[in-house]
Amino acid sequence: MGDRSEVSRGLLSAGDGVASSDAGWMRLALEEARGAEAAGEVPIGAVAVFDGKLIARGANRTIRDCDPTAHAEMIALREAAKTIRNYRLAGVSVYVTIEPCAMCAGAMIQARIGRVVYGADDPKGGAVRSCFNVLDNSLLNHRVEAAGGVLAEECAAVLQAFFAARR
Ligand code: ZN
Repeated sequence: MGDRSEVSRGLLSAGDGVASSDAGWMRLALEEARGAEAAGEVPIGAVAVFDGKLIARGANRTIRDCDPTAHAEMIALREAAKTIRNYRLAGVSVYVTIEPCAMCAGAMIQARIGRVVYGADDPKGGAVRSCFNVLDNSLLNHRVEAAGGVLAEECAAVLQAFFAARR
C-alpha cells in the first residue's frame, strides 16, 4: 500500500480481508476496468463496499449492452441494491477508476450512497469537481462525501493506453 494520495485517508474496516483501504478497493475497481478493456469497452471499473465488504462490481459495458447508461458505476449501483435488497444505499461507498460523469453522480445522489472515491480526474466530463460539482450543492438534502486521486496515475494510465492503442 504505497499510495499516499492527497485525499486517501479513510481506512475502511477490513471485513473480509479482500481490501482494507481506499487503495485496496481501488485495485479491485482497476481489475474491473481491465476486464472491460478485454471486452473491447472503454476501461472504467467500479466496486461498491458496505460494512467493509465488497457487495458489487461493475465494468463499463455500454457497447456490449448497447446502453448509453451502462457505465461502471451504474452497473455497480444496480448490483449493490440487489445485494443488500434496498434501493437506498445508505452507508455504501463506491470506488470508481475515473471521476464520475453527471449521470453517475446523479444516480449516486438518488441511491443515497455515503461516499464515492475515484481515481483519476476527468477533465472532459467529470462531475465531482472537473466540469461540474454535482455532489457539492447545498440545496441537496443528501450529501455524498467525495474523494479523488486514489491510484490516480494507474487509473489514468489504463484509459490512456486504451485510447493510444486505437489511434
Ligand atoms: Zn457515468
